[in-house]
Amino acid sequence: MQKAAGFYQNAILFGWDGIARHLVKKGLAYGYLPNLKTLISTGTFVAIDVLHTTDSKAGWAQILTGYDPEITGVFSNNNYQVIPKGYTIFERLHKFYDSDNFIAAGIIGRSIEAILPSYGSVQEKNLLICCLPNDEATCVRALEFLNQHRDKQFFLFVHFEETDLAAHIFGDGSRAQFASLLATEARTGQIITKLKQLGLYENSLVYITSDHGFDIGKRTHHNAPCVFLISKDHNLRRQGEQADVAPTIMNRLGLDTDKIQPPLSGQPLLKMTPPVSRSVYPIAKGAKLLDKVF
Ligand SMILES: [Zn+2]
Repeated sequence: MQKAAGFYQNAILFGWDGIARHLVKKGLAYGYLPNLKTLISTGTFVAIDVLHTTDSKAGWAQILTGYDPEITGVFSNNNYQVIPKGYTIFERLHKFYDSDNFIAAGIIGRSIEAILPSYGSVQEKNLLICCLPNDEATCVRALEFLNQHRDKQFFLFVHFEETDLAAHIFGDGSRAQFASLLATEARTGQIITKLKQLGLYENSLVYITSDHGFDIGKRTHHNAPCVFLISKDHNLRRQGEQADVAPTIMNRLGLDTDKIQPPLSGQPLLKMTPPVSRSVYPIAKGAKLLDKVF
């Protein structure tokens, strides 16, 4: 499909699990995140707030759909239902491009159910490589993906999880957590370098975000709502919330996000749109009101 000028061909979304905004700022301030620094020098770093339970399922489900928990049914790691068919960014892009030349893929350390409880519907047409043993393996598979699909148009989600594991084991603020951030940033840099080597960088968007932070000084993330969106795209105009991530990416890949049904909860971060008042949706079947944390 031919898109109008100004849109990008490909996009990679990196998911750094459990990384708070302040930790990234600290890394940048100390000069430890060179790949991020380069990305931000020509792109944007915006604050993203989490307006629901701060855990992985609730976070990634919103990031990868653009919908509130009331619509996806994913309120938390323990309170969730299968996301309605067709609602994920993978399925939306696939439907939009409707071509064998387009591939939407996820390379994920955990099972797909652990971050995006969609069971059959996402796997049907999209390439998902899950349950990888560690982030190094995730990185290797992402590099292989680019080599293999360099001639196709793609959306790729790469999920690194060791940042979350390090903080659960050693605690927020630990050296292990920071070391894990540095390793994740270096792996992200390797994949960006590969994009450049393959001549794909100019035509590809690069985004980095996280599902939640950590409770300060603790090994938990009960109330850790300050994350970020870093982008090669210098057109991001405002800070936002997690529901804005998918609309932003889909919009930059050519979709008219205003026409998506049911209407997305988030808005692209490309315009200085004032926050819209949210429509009221029926509570998803099986969802508990108590889990609605706003
Ligand atoms: Zn966690």
